[in-house]
Amino acid sequence: MNQTSVSNLAADSASVRRILDRKGSAVHAIRPDDTIGTAVVTLRDKKVGALVVTNAEGDLKGILSERDIVRKMAETPGQTLPQKVSENMTRDVVTCTPDDKLVEVLRQMSDGRFRHMPVMDDGKLCGVLTIGDLIAYRLSELEYEALHMKQMIAG
Ligand code: AMP
Repeated sequence: MNQTSVSNLAADSASVRRILDRKGSAVHAIRPDDTIGTAVVTLRDKKVGALVVTNAEGDLKGILSERDIVRKMAETPGQTLPQKVSENMTRDVVTCTPDDKLVEVLRQMSDGRFRHMPVMDDGKLCGVLTIGDLIAYRLSELEYEALHMKQMIAG
């Protein structure tokens, strides 16, 4: 296998499952009737930038990110924290599956200008990828490819 095919194969074929296997399937969720006040505490405590919004059955109803909260704070200064999550979340959530290719997920996030991607397996939430996860994975791949090429040159 030559250098070019090693590089292309690694970058094009890796799927979401590759990152989930390392990262795990933790999903930080909140309910539509919770307040933005609860959301900001959860965002702080869990050290994440977005929460998926689920109902009592665990069905995905939306996503709420720091950006939604900042936007609302600018629009309704001093009145944001008591508001409902359901009034501020994004309802049309783009999701992926464990079998989707990472390069395709990155493209969707870049085109849609969002940094979080819930992962659904058979209709159930099984993780959340962030743009940071994808970049870290791609960087580790690039390091591997560079090492591989150096080793080939060195013999
Ligand atoms: P983010 O960059 O993820 O903080 O989100 C920027 C905006 O996109 C916010 O309005 C989010 O509610 C929304 N958003 C985040 N992730 C998704 C997603 N997977 N599908 C649709 N909208 C999203």
